[in-house]
Amino acid sequence: MVKSKKPVFVGLGGNVGDVLSNMAKALDVLDSEPDVELVAVSPVYKTPPWGITDQDWFLNACAKFETSLEPQAFLDKCLEAEESLKRTRSKRWGPRTIDLDILLFGDVMVSYENLTIPHPRMQERQFVLEPLATLDDGLKIGGKSVGELLTGLGEPALEMEYEGTDWVAKFS
Ligand code: ATP
Ligand code: CA
Ligand code: CA
Repeated sequence: MVKSKKPVFVGLGGNVGDVLSNMAKALDVLDSEPDVELVAVSPVYKTPPWGITDQDWFLNACAKFETSLEPQAFLDKCLEAEESLKRTRSKRWGPRTIDLDILLFGDVMVSYENLTIPHPRMQERQFVLEPLATLDDGLKIGGKSVGELLTGLGEPALEMEYEGTDWVAKFS
């Protein structure tokens, strides 16, 4: 049987070390999985810290993958990729080399103890919505499009750190 593939949108972020390099390596690690294919990457933005504000600014981006994996298996790959990039989990929302959040997984809704999709805090986060909108501003979350949600935040546009498309080869 041919396994059906779903589009998965992943939020990437970090504020420790060479974050562009960490992002490139994380994308490469995931793309190297036999059942995962990297499709597109947004520009990278400079963003103020969220939740715990007394720490360095972050870089954030979004990536689109296609996968035949189930959501839980895809999360496991993300957590493994974080670990391989020496992420230590000291505190939620605290400093990190790389964070990989599953934002949307096709039209699948998941509510497990360790995994919620759509990502429950994405609607209020400019650092998620702005890069995500560059990939597809028509994606729907709870009846509203990513573009509408972003406009609704009413924030000035984020500053870009890197907007090329060849950056996996360039930084990893
Ligand atoms: P936030 O989830 O608010 O962005 P965070 O990314 O700092 O916070 P982490 O410490 O990276 O939080 O993750 C804690 C746990 O969140 C993970 O171990 C994972 O099991 C769980 N989790 C639940 N839903 C998701 C999701 N959609 N994507 C990634 N992790 C998730
Ligand atoms: Ca996160
Ligand atoms: Ca996370």
